[in-house]
Amino acid sequence: MDLYGGYVSKLIEELSALPGIGSKSAERLAFHLINIPKEKVDRLANVMMQAKSNVRYCEKCFTLTDKELCPVCADEGRDHNLIMVVENSRDMAAYEKTQKYKGVYHVLQGAISPMVGIGPSDIRIKELLARLEDGVEEVIIATNSSLEGETTAMYISKLIKPMGIRVTRIASGVPIGGDLEYIDEVTLLRALEGRIEM
Ligand code: ZN
Repeated sequence: MDLYGGYVSKLIEELSALPGIGSKSAERLAFHLINIPKEKVDRLANVMMQAKSNVRYCEKCFTLTDKELCPVCADEGRDHNLIMVVENSRDMAAYEKTQKYKGVYHVLQGAISPMVGIGPSDIRIKELLARLEDGVEEVIIATNSSLEGETTAMYISKLIKPMGIRVTRIASGVPIGGDLEYIDEVTLLRALEGRIEM
């Protein structure tokens, strides 16, 4: 029996497909949306659409941005010869919050995961190699310490080291399988400062 009628059920179904939203939360959100003034729902729907149509990948580092270059890549004051490789924009944001890292980033948009069929050509590795041609001195690999993150780190290091560029890996101490975004700033900085040669 469809207790709430088609539209409500559809709304709950769509909301519960979002990451981290279980069926109970989806139900709560759906009823909230139905009960608030229409203008508020319009505003929410609009910012969602605007974000979706205006956000794109930075042409250099492939983080999400709404310009050609993200603010970090566009900043002349950053050290463009020091590149930190991260899995996603959230990890980049975590390091940016420390305000201590002065290099730039490269966002892979994923990690190698043969189990689910994600190979090296499915993430932005080719684009990283293309950036290494002019004067890059060090690549810091800051992928997660999960199996996928370690596999990706090894793969990238093997490609870059023969180019004569220093390749380092952030220190362990970052919890195994831990997403970088959940790790506090002190731990992130310690991992960065204690990075080791690969
Ligand atoms: Zn960028």
